[in-house]
Amino acid sequence: MIQLDTVKAMRAFSRDKASLGFVPTMGFLHEGHLSLVRRAKAENEYTVVSIFVNPAQFNDANDLEKYPTDLERDLVLLEREGVDAVFIPKRDEVYPEGTPTVKIRYDALMGRLCGAFRENHFEGMLLIVHNLFMWVSPTRAYFGLKDYQQFLLVEKMARDLAFPVTVHGCPLVREEDGLALSSRNVRLSTKGRSDALVISRSLFEAKADVERGGVNFALIKKNLHAALNSLRIEYASLYDAQTLEELTLPGKNGVLIAVAAYVEGVRLIDNVLIEPC
Ligand code: AMP
Repeated sequence: MIQLDTVKAMRAFSRDKASLGFVPTMGFLHEGHLSLVRRAKAENEYTVVSIFVNPAQFNDANDLEKYPTDLERDLVLLEREGVDAVFIPKRDEVYPEGTPTVKIRYDALMGRLCGAFRENHFEGMLLIVHNLFMWVSPTRAYFGLKDYQQFLLVEKMARDLAFPVTVHGCPLVREEDGLALSSRNVRLSTKGRSDALVISRSLFEAKADVERGGVNFALIKKNLHAALNSLRIEYASLYDAQTLEELTLPGKNGVLIAVAAYVEGVRLIDNVLIEPC
């Protein structure tokens, strides 16, 4: 595995590669990230993983400061997976003049769920993904459905801005007890981790209700809020899986049931997806 620290080295690596799979990350890797890496490896001749904690997508300075890092460990994990190159750009090269004010925006899609609570988060995310796509030139890029709204936005941006890349959404990976894997979980105490389990549990219950034919979405949402009432909830509801509009009835695009809530000051997100029949 080679380590690429500059855009120039990254561009040189990508040149003339018949197929290149790309997994962008912010590091502190876990099995969720590695599931994307394995898929990229299986479907492409070469695989590149980037590690960059992108300040432009953090709306909360405290969250950025506390974001966990362990580059040494990440490199061992990626080497073990047989990744060809890891791209670790420097902040100064990514943002030589500070965070640019240019914005890639989707007003409706960005205003919902996380976008309603994290000002500038998705603009910052799309900007870095746009630039990474320019530098890495991937054939296929892999994103986790854990960040479902992010996946929808990236897929749309790639299409609308004519990137020659296919964006794949990959299943959310959980611990055995249901907790969605996240780099931020390390900030939870044992009690906090156990309190956080109510998120996946209540989502599974809501999903089972919908699958049993429950069409009273207002009641399912009410039960979800009741189950989560010990946490500080940002949002918890049922949404159209394409437009992310809140649903009061089953729609034709499938149903996303999604939650964002704080446990011990750590913001956690989770979701379950019900495909259209
Ligand atoms: P991050 O390092 O948090 O920016 O995540 C990098 C990529 O890994 C994103 O596409 C995430 O959606 C994906 N990812 C993070 N956690 C999980 C998970 N538990 N299951 C699947 N993918 C994940």
